[in-house]
Amino acid sequence: MKVYSNILEMIGHTPMVEFQNLDTGKCRLFGKMESQNPGASIKDRIAVSMIEAAEKAGHIKPGDTLIEATAGNTGLGLALVASQKGYTLKIVMPDKMSMEKEYNLRAFGAEVIRTRSDVGKGHPEYYQDVAKRLSEENGWFFINQFSNDANIQAHYETTAPEIWEQLDGKVDAIVLGVGSGGTITGIGRYMKEKNPNVEMVLADPEGSILADYLKTGDIKEAGSWVVEGIGEDFIPDICDMSLFDKAYTVSDKEGLMAARDLMRKEAVMGGSSTGTLLAAALRYCQEQTEPKNVVTLVCDTGNRYLSKMYNDEWMKEKGFL
Ligand code: PMP
Repeated sequence: MKVYSNILEMIGHTPMVEFQNLDTGKCRLFGKMESQNPGASIKDRIAVSMIEAAEKAGHIKPGDTLIEATAGNTGLGLALVASQKGYTLKIVMPDKMSMEKEYNLRAFGAEVIRTRSDVGKGHPEYYQDVAKRLSEENGWFFINQFSNDANIQAHYETTAPEIWEQLDGKVDAIVLGVGSGGTITGIGRYMKEKNPNVEMVLADPEGSILADYLKTGDIKEAGSWVVEGIGEDFIPDICDMSLFDKAYTVSDKEGLMAARDLMRKEAVMGGSSTGTLLAAALRYCQEQTEPKNVVTLVCDTGNRYLSKMYNDEWMKEKGFL
């Protein structure tokens, strides 16, 4: 029988699709459909690798309680794994993240603790600081994707080789965002080993410090942005910024409109970070004078943002439409 023995086996091996109805200039643009993972985001991969690494190291065993700070998708990936392996899950998530993510997490039986979105790292109400404190107070295991090497490893061992094989090694550029930095460090390392000429391109929301850091080497004060899951107010431990060759800053409006356009023209319903990546990828493609194969990620499903970016009323209220 051609069957999977459980849902976790269905993580990864996501399809790659060409976007042929967008203005990609001389380039071909491909989207890796991470939204097709069972938890509907790229974070399923790291949920498995981080939990299995902690088990192997003897830090956790089924029955224990895990806590994680997340924009939501890592939480949803962890919820799949926790359900199948028998862990209790606590999720700390800033209040700007969509209600769909919270409902989805609670449906899995995870406890969701919301925190302020308007404070930065080091503030006692910042989501990562809250998760760390709760873990220490209660003896829960803090997964901490921002400093966890198993996050990098998942992308180095699975996402990156899949991209390489799907394009028969004919990869010229990859456009990515940074949340924890796991995807850039894992995919970037793999690609540069295969071919140092592969360009790694950062798509950064306006207000994040990362694109500016690449250009100037300075860390400015962070602003705010509505796109979820990418953009940072600090440089995560596992994020190797030296792997990036180029950076684009994308406004909320440009990113969200790009995602809506992707849905109308390609019938691919990605989330808000997908829109930011796509907007940067299109600018990159249009600037090229030679034909190139460019890859970007459909990081998660747009179903998570039906009340926000796919809701015209919300878009108008925010001044994006
Ligand atoms: N897109 C979405 C929707 C995410 O939730 C995340 C992770 N927070 C990313 C992109 C960024 O990936 P990474 O954490 O590997 O940098």
